[in-house]
Amino acid sequence: MPAGLDAIFRPRSVAVVGASRQPATIGREVIHNLLGFEFSGKVFPVNPKAAVIHSMKCYRSVTDIPDEVDLAVIVVPREQVLRAVGQCARKGVRGLIVITAGFRESGPAGAKIEARLFRMVRAHGMRMVGPNCMGVINTDPEIRLNASFAAARPERGEAAFVSQSGALGEAILANAKDLGLGISMFVSMGNKTDVSGNDLLEYWATEPSVRVILMYLESFGNPRRFTEIARRITRKKPIITVKSGRTEAGARAAVSHTGSLAAGDTATDSLLQQCGVLRVSTMEEMFTVAPAFAMQPIPTGPRVGIVTNAGGPGILATDAAVALGLTLPEFSPRTRRGLRKVLPREATLGNPVDLIASATPERFERALRLVCRDPGLDSVIAIFVSPITVDARAMAEAIVRGASRAGKPVVVVFMSKAASAEGTRILRAAGLPVYLYPEEAATALGAMNTWRGLRDRPTGRIPKFRVHAARARRVLERAWRAGRELLTGEEVEALLRAYGFRLAPSRIVKTAAEAIDFAQSTGYPVVLKAQSRRIVHKSDVGGVKVDLRTADDVWKAFRELQVLRRRAPDLRILAQKMIRGGRELILGMTTDARFGPVVLCGMGGIHVEVMRDTALRVHPLTDAGARQMIRSLRGWPLLEGVRGEKPVAVAAMEDALLRLSQMITEQDLLRELDINPFIVTPDPAGCRVVDARVRIGAGR
Ligand code: ADP
Ligand code: MG
Repeated sequence: MPAGLDAIFRPRSVAVVGASRQPATIGREVIHNLLGFEFSGKVFPVNPKAAVIHSMKCYRSVTDIPDEVDLAVIVVPREQVLRAVGQCARKGVRGLIVITAGFRESGPAGAKIEARLFRMVRAHGMRMVGPNCMGVINTDPEIRLNASFAAARPERGEAAFVSQSGALGEAILANAKDLGLGISMFVSMGNKTDVSGNDLLEYWATEPSVRVILMYLESFGNPRRFTEIARRITRKKPIITVKSGRTEAGARAAVSHTGSLAAGDTATDSLLQQCGVLRVSTMEEMFTVAPAFAMQPIPTGPRVGIVTNAGGPGILATDAAVALGLTLPEFSPRTRRGLRKVLPREATLGNPVDLIASATPERFERALRLVCRDPGLDSVIAIFVSPITVDARAMAEAIVRGASRAGKPVVVVFMSKAASAEGTRILRAAGLPVYLYPEEAATALGAMNTWRGLRDRPTGRIPKFRVHAARARRVLERAWRAGRELLTGEEVEALLRAYGFRLAPSRIVKTAAEAIDFAQSTGYPVVLKAQSRRIVHKSDVGGVKVDLRTADDVWKAFRELQVLRRRAPDLRILAQKMIRGGRELILGMTTDARFGPVVLCGMGGIHVEVMRDTALRVHPLTDAGARQMIRSLRGWPLLEGVRGEKPVAVAAMEDALLRLSQMITEQDLLRELDINPFIVTPDPAGCRVVDARVRIGAGR
């Protein structure tokens, strides 16, 4: 008996609860699709008000069905759903697709029923897609399951598609069919009450019929699980996602720099990339790239060869390809010698090679074969613009022959009106993606090349530092039990020290005399800072007095800071050693709603939000990740040292980032952390944290 998601995708029998004879009802469409798609198992209509539906005996209840039932598709009104599911549980049904709407999406009453539905599903060990969804399709010839009310019928292929929105799902299926994009499995998830996008990723990861996973999602579900699964799968299979257009406002910007810098769309791009997920900006782009991923091998490099029978489209394809990071090298001497024999004497043998309008199918085929076999090329674009004199069908067949056994991705631009449908059909049937415009072909190859980079990204290793994790945990737990979200200065210091961070020497001082005393014992210059729960960013209120070189300076600064007592009755003054001769960096972490904990580093100081020179990574960080992060900053040359300056201790920065990452792993209460600045000096032993804040919370 199929269990888990197999009960949904590979059932041997399906009951349709709420099946109907009435035209234009979902209950009828589902039955109709199951039969029309030639489901390989048994179908049982269930409806107490009908005796026969579609020439099949109709049952009063699932429990009346004499055979075993693996999957039930529920389309009854909301009020009857729980009862129907209860009967399914009694019958031993393992899979549910609840199409009925009116749950969480409709308000509190619906949300209540949904919660009960969820408990029922879990209690009986069932799996459920929906509610409020369009259904599920599996085109496997052994199964042929169309348990949906979609009008379009997908062809068999190797793309799996998951859509959060049902309406969009319908459009996706129709579009896929028009483009010759075959579908392996399709799921419209609805409210994701039980089966989530993460579950599907996991299921498809090991599914041999799925070569590429396409997602339209507004949210990924459990972010930690998503990043973990996506990172693993994308080492083997591409995941392509469309951006949903929802950008997150930096709502918590007031507390930490990291929080505001990590929000927004560019952050999403960067984080998805690190999980190996390819993000496209539009549905249109998704459909441009998906057929290439589904039908062609991944190129082993960026080098493209173009064969065309018209100059203009060749140039357009070249420009688009180069803009996407692809290259067009010269052909190998051997390819050139071959082409010389095929082409008229006046033809040039550059890349793109232009066969001119008079090219016959035979000549196109020979030239294409030569270019496909050139070992210096990783992918090929064949462009055919139909002159009226050439038979498009014969040309399509010639292209298929020329591209066969290429061993590398080949995509075709077929700009032909006469009999183009026929030509396109021939090309697609041979597994070649066909485009109308040269730029689309370049987009497809560009995306595949980008994905190759993502797939082959360095793994790196996660070092383990010897730290005082238990001590740090006690600090955080004590603050949490005391009901505080923000740690005090002392707590921050204890936490950071426990993880081996070095802090600038400092002391809370009660009087100017004490401050002068501190300065004399550590040595001038010093800094005085205002500390208060009312003051988040000290510089904003004139609460940081730097470069105090004499007792007199300290005395004056101390007096000036007293003014702040009016707005901050809990004011305390911190005296700190001034760290000189370094660069200010920011190191931070925040908890992203979609990706879980993320780590940030960048050029720091009080102007971080203005400069926005930061890099963001999904936790946990590897040594390779930390290296890359720092080197991706615009300010990297400043850290390396320009114009005779000494380089700063980059290794100390990497070390600090990796320690921070370990802290995130070990301290669940950590929600947000800002170290700004971490002052990095040329001497690794001189680097110091001079300011930090930490926010804690449960349920990261
Ligand atoms: P806040 O971020 O709350 O405004 P900081 O303690 O980060 O306060 O101080 C603001 C700026 O003052 C820092 O970015 C840095 O330029 C400078 N600064 C503060 N403390 C030191 C120090 N100990 N050594 C050198 N510069 C310091
Ligand atoms: Mg600061």
